[in-house]
Amino acid sequence: MLTYARIEAARRRRWASALLYLTDRCPVGCAHCSVNARPDGARITDWPLFEQVVSVLCGVESFEIVGISGGEPFTERRGLVFATDALVAAGKSVVLYTSGFWGEPAPWARRVLDRSSCVVLGTDTFHAARLTDDRVVPAIRAVREAGCWLVLQAIGTDRDAAALLTRALGAAWRDHAEIHVTGLLTVGRARSLRTSAPVRDAPGFGPCTVSDAPVVRYDGRVSACCNETVITGGGPPALRRQARDAAELAQSLDSFEADPMLRFISSHGPGPLAPLVGLQDRRFEHICQLCWRVTRRLGTDPGASVAALALFTEHAPDTQPTPDAPSRQDAEPTPDAQRTPDAQRTSDAPSRQDAQSTRHVPPTRDVPFAQNEGDVS
Ligand code: SF4
Ligand code: SF4
Repeated sequence: MLTYARIEAARRRRWASALLYLTDRCPVGCAHCSVNARPDGARITDWPLFEQVVSVLCGVESFEIVGISGGEPFTERRGLVFATDALVAAGKSVVLYTSGFWGEPAPWARRVLDRSSCVVLGTDTFHAARLTDDRVVPAIRAVREAGCWLVLQAIGTDRDAAALLTRALGAAWRDHAEIHVTGLLTVGRARSLRTSAPVRDAPGFGPCTVSDAPVVRYDGRVSACCNETVITGGGPPALRRQARDAAELAQSLDSFEADPMLRFISSHGPGPLAPLVGLQDRRFEHICQLCWRVTRRLGTDPGASVAALALFTEHAPDTQPTPDAPSRQDAEPTPDAQRTPDAQRTSDAPSRQDAQSTRHVPPTRDVPFAQNEGDVS
């Protein structure tokens, strides 16, 4: 059974999981959508490139779990069927991130569910404003009938998720599902919901717990971490690449996987790098704000870059967990890596999967996070 805790554990092992960002399209239109998905959002237009994207994901042996998100993946019938079939045939476990807007599934959607291991279904007051329970209940039942584990993801305690599950699956719903309570990720359309957030001294930011799982978009764009703002164009260009074919995508993934700075941020965080770029006395709301500033400065300051390389080399043994070994983050949650079991992914860094918590499943965050460079400059 692929529970949320198992998914999270895989996400914290370097390159044990990845996310396929299947589409920017979604018909639901939630006010809190962290990726600003729209009914007319971009979608797959270059099918040969998309096939190569899926092929590369299938070919990375270390990826045990591949999540499929968007936008709403069920709006991409052809792409979703193709990707699910290919990934499962390659031995990957597939996790679907959806709102359940599809209700009673069509035969092709049932086939997708049949092949998947887990469905993370976003439900909260924002979703409920756009989707009635009458719409979502058949979707929940279809997930159950397909034998998928269901993670019902809600924001805070703003909705009685247990009542929804009881209505859909009966009193024994815990045999088939769990509830993951998460926080609002105030990016995308949710940015207007941002409230003041605590700030922290730059050196205090520890390991980033979502930098071990890359995100690959349908059009060949790939980001080094699970911060969905990066894949959608925010943050430093150094954290993403645009691949034009399978070879470039594989090369991009390899370079991110081996990148010493990313490994250091995963194991130690951006905090220790702050003094190297003159940010030791600055305060930030969010780990990604500091990460972006550090990344940019290391790219333009040769002296700082040399000092950073020395630091990375010094700590290299600690930054290369093996695929079979629990990562340091697993063993020792830190303030920057707090995650609650079922579930709660709770790192300071927004991720798409969490974020899907705010979308369908979007994110998780109590701490607002800078959406663009202006926030962190
Ligand atoms: S701190 Fe944020 S931007 Fe940096 S690697 Fe982690 S998730 Fe990505
Ligand atoms: S939160 Fe999910 S369901 Fe809502 S608009 Fe965004 S992608 Fe669609």
